[in-house]
Amino acid sequence: MSRITPPRPVDVAALFPQLAPLARPAIRLHPRPGSPTSNDSSVGGPLLWPADEPWPHCDESHDQIDELYEAYGVNAAEDYEWQDGPNPMVPLAQLYMRDVPLLRPPGQADLLQVLWCPFEHEPDYKPPTVLFWRSSGEVTKLAAGLPGPFAVEYDGYIPRPCVLAPEQITEYPDPMDVSKELQQQLRDWSNWQRAGSAVDSSWAPYPDAFYGSQLSVAPGWKIGGWPQWGLTDPNARFCAACDAKMEPLLTIASCEWDSSNIGWVPYEDQALGSLDNARVANPPRIQVSRKYRLQLYVCPNSPDHPHTDLIQ
Ligand SMILES: [Zn+2]
Ligand SMILES: [Zn+2]
Repeated sequence: MSRITPPRPVDVAALFPQLAPLARPAIRLHPRPGSPTSNDSSVGGPLLWPADEPWPHCDESHDQIDELYEAYGVNAAEDYEWQDGPNPMVPLAQLYMRDVPLLRPPGQADLLQVLWCPFEHEPDYKPPTVLFWRSSGEVTKLAAGLPGPFAVEYDGYIPRPCVLAPEQITEYPDPMDVSKELQQQLRDWSNWQRAGSAVDSSWAPYPDAFYGSQLSVAPGWKIGGWPQWGLTDPNARFCAACDAKMEPLLTIASCEWDSSNIGWVPYEDQALGSLDNARVANPPRIQVSRKYRLQLYVCPNSPDHPHTDLIQ
């Protein structure tokens, strides 16, 4: 399986040379329904998990489910086995270095595993995530019968198993992440007219929106690149251990495209039709806080420093 993003309609760094040094590589993951094994990179697939390692649990309170239980009775909880105590975490993504060479694993590791508790915890009402770096060659005996969660906020936090078609692309900063001067230039239609017919004149009243939706940050699941803003203004993350500015690792998206950014749909999916169907645009069926995205950040100085995350 492969997925290829059409070239951007304009070489934006040629038009705005200040953008050239801000180019960053990103790898779009393009998750699509499939039957991944633990030897595959996946979203929502089985993890290569050692038999002698305990499964991660979320130790926070899941009391809210008690309230649901009291309010709605047995039916509200019947989809999940009713238990108390730590909630087994859910495999979200497994990424092998061979598929996603932008990863910077520590030591001999060649595999990143990401899990979350499918429950929105206070104070930010987001699912807590955990990261594991592994050397796949050291996993000789696989764990059997991995536990599932009992407390689930809603089904949008349980990914449908997907195989991946990683594709490296180039991103430029979100419009809110560039200097005021460059923002002004991006808003000036006369600068865009230098690109001739490559820029549709329907963008003339708001060319910065053309930059934001078609040329800067790719929608969907990805590794690296630039963060997309929208829920808040740019909000840099700093490492709790060393105060370094953290870098985007993984973006967990609630859709790969919508009507505002259809130009990012890979060639192979354009033939699908019904692009506006939510299930077509969101194969893993993840809904982060209903419609947003969860950005994971890591410290550039050490993979041992704690990661952090942000909903946007
Ligand atoms: Zn939890
Ligand atoms: Zn650090």
